[in-house]
Amino acid sequence: MAVPGEGSPDTEVVFVGEGPGYNEDQQGRPFVGAAGTLLTELLKQIGWKREEVFITNVVKCRPPGNRDPEPFEIETCAPYLKRQLEVLDPSVIVTLGRYSLGTFMPGARISSAHGTSQPTDPATGAESAETFAMYHPAAALRQYSLRETMLEDMCSLPGVLTRSRERRTATATATVASSMAVPVPIEPEADSEVALDSEVALDSEAMLEPARPGPSDDPQLGFFG
Ligand code: URA
Repeated sequence: MAVPGEGSPDTEVVFVGEGPGYNEDQQGRPFVGAAGTLLTELLKQIGWKREEVFITNVVKCRPPGNRDPEPFEIETCAPYLKRQLEVLDPSVIVTLGRYSLGTFMPGARISSAHGTSQPTDPATGAESAETFAMYHPAAALRQYSLRETMLEDMCSLPGVLTRSRERRTATATATVASSMAVPVPIEPEADSEVALDSEVALDSEAMLEPARPGPSDDPQLGFFG
């Protein structure tokens, strides 16, 4: 069956794996087999619960025989993943494994990219996110030494989230500041008979002030801070 993904709609972090396996196909839920157990355990190590994040895959249906997804399958599911990211608007996307890495960091190699992050291309649907690369938990089930690597990488994730939040706040503040209109005072026409008396001059000085309260006075900015 199709496995669209699950998690909190209010989350700031989206994990993107490769595609459903046998157990996921049976239950219609992502990462519910052995790889999912390891992922849940890694999240627990940093004090996060899987219900607090969103977990999905690049392909939404199980490739027959558990084979790797074909490029056309990834392409077919891409608009769905893009729409999910548009709606969730995450601060961080965590790629699990090389197929997800190929979607968010094209050309990167998992052996050198894991544990690193870079700004996400908004064309993916995530308008303002950081992509953080990790190995696939199934790889750590096959190769025991990768568990330590995955734990180290997972421990970097809260810091990546904090930096991404800061970047989003700075961008939002700059956007608000640049949208504050400063009206230009109307100059009297050269041959106008109306002289500017002191009261009018005072009013036109007031017009030079910003039209809206500054950032520190704007109660709406609590949302960004
Ligand atoms: N592996 C994946 O990539 N995704 C799942 O949902 C399960 C296993």
